[in-house]
Amino acid sequence: MIDTALPRPYQNYVYAYPHKTAYRPLPDRPALARVWAGESRSALSLYLHIPFCEVRCGFCNLFTRVGAPADLTGRYLDALARQATAVRAALGEAESPRFANAAFGGGTPTFLDAGELTRLCDIAEQIMGADLRAIPLSVEASPSTCTADRLAVLAERGATRLSLGVQSFVDEEARAAVRPQRRADVEAALGRIRDAGIPVLNIDLIYGIDGQTAASWRHSLDAALAWRPEEIYLYPLYVRPLTGLARHADLDVAEQDWDRERLARYAQGRDHLLAQGYQQVSMRMFRRGDAPPQGPDDYACQTDGMIGLGCGARSYTSRLHYSFDYAVELREVRGIIDSYVATTDFGSAVHGRVIDGDEAARRHLLQSLLQTEGLPVADYRRRFGADPWDHFGEQLHALAGRGWLAETGAELLRLSPAGLAYSDAIGPGFFSPDVRAAMAAYELR
Ligand code: SF4
Repeated sequence: MIDTALPRPYQNYVYAYPHKTAYRPLPDRPALARVWAGESRSALSLYLHIPFCEVRCGFCNLFTRVGAPADLTGRYLDALARQATAVRAALGEAESPRFANAAFGGGTPTFLDAGELTRLCDIAEQIMGADLRAIPLSVEASPSTCTADRLAVLAERGATRLSLGVQSFVDEEARAAVRPQRRADVEAALGRIRDAGIPVLNIDLIYGIDGQTAASWRHSLDAALAWRPEEIYLYPLYVRPLTGLARHADLDVAEQDWDRERLARYAQGRDHLLAQGYQQVSMRMFRRGDAPPQGPDDYACQTDGMIGLGCGARSYTSRLHYSFDYAVELREVRGIIDSYVATTDFGSAVHGRVIDGDEAARRHLLQSLLQTEGLPVADYRRRFGADPWDHFGEQLHALAGRGWLAETGAELLRLSPAGLAYSDAIGPGFFSPDVRAAMAAYELR
C-alpha cells in the first residue's frame, strides 16, 4: 500500500522553474536591448521551438498544433527569422553572443521537411551566430517524421543528439494512452537514426499506461535497450485516460492505485537500467555508462542565459524569464501561432516573470537537488550568501525526516533513492508562495 502519510508522488514535473503558467503579460513590455543589457553572453543556450505535430498525443500538454495548413510552416520560419534578427540586434555588437549548446524542440521539429530543417539551421547559424557543428545540438523527433533525408540534414549540420518519443513498444499501449503507432515503424525509424550516425540517441518511454503490466513494461525497456541508446528517459504518465478511472467507484482509491502502479514501474525501470550499465541522472533520465558526454543534463544549467526563438520558447536572463502567451487548447494555440506569424516587431518581451534573488535561489536549489549529483552547498553559499538550510530549513528537515536525503555530510545535499522516486512531490515544495498562487490562478486554455 502507498503510505498515505506521504505526499502524492506525481504532482508536478519541475522541468523549469518558474513554470510558464506563472508568467503574466509584462505591463512595461521592456525592450530586449534593455532586458539583455549587462547580461553575460559568454555561454548562452539557444532553443528553437517548432510548435507542430502530426497527431496530438493523449498525454501531451505542450504548446503544439496539429493539422497545420501546408503554407504555415514556411510562414512560421519567416517569423522565426524576423524574431532572430530582432534578438540578435538587441544583443548588440559590443560582445558577440557565444552559444554553448543548441536545441530544436517542439512540438516535433522533424515535422519540418528537409528543406525547412536546412532553413532552421541557417537561422541558428547565419542570423544568431551559433556554430552548430562545434557545439552540442539536440533535436526532438517522432518515429514517423524520422525520414532519411531529414536525418541527413540534421547529421550534416551537426546534430549530436536525437531524442525519439517512442513511449511504448507495445502497439496496444501506444494506442491506449499515447498515440497510434506500429512497432515496426518505430524500429525502422531507430534503424535510420543509427544509420545517420548522430552520436547520442535518446529514447523516451512512458509508464503508468492503462493496461501496462510489469511484463509489458519490461518488454518495452528491453526493446529500447536492444538499440543500446546513449540515454533513456522514463516518464510517468500524468493524464490517465478516463476509461481507467471509470472502473473505480471511488476516484481517490483509483488515484492511489495508479500512484502505486507508477511507483512500482519506476522502481522496476530504474533497477533494470542500472543493472544494464546505465547511470541515473535524475528521476527520469538515465545515461549509458560509456556514453559520450553531452552538454547540459536534464534541467541542470544553473546560471547561464537562454535565448528561445519561436512562439512557445522561453528565454532566460538572470532577472527575467519571458516568452509569448501560453495555451494548450487547440483553438487558443492556433490563435497564438497565427499572431506570432503576423508579428513584425519582435523587439520587446511581452509575457514573463521577474526573477528576484529569492526565486533565483529556489531555481538553483531545484535544478541541483532534483539531479542525482545533488547540490554542493559551497556553490549555493557562494552565490546566495547563506546556507540552503538557512533559507529552506523547514522543507529540508521534512525531507530528512522522511529519509529522502542521502547521508552525504554537510557539504552536499543529495536525494536518497527513495527521495528521487518522489522528485515530483519534492519539487513543488520549494515553489515560492507567489509562484504557487500565480500557477493556481492560471486558467488553463
Ligand atoms: S509528439 Fe510530442 S509535442 Fe507532439 S503531441 Fe506528442 S508528446 Fe506532444
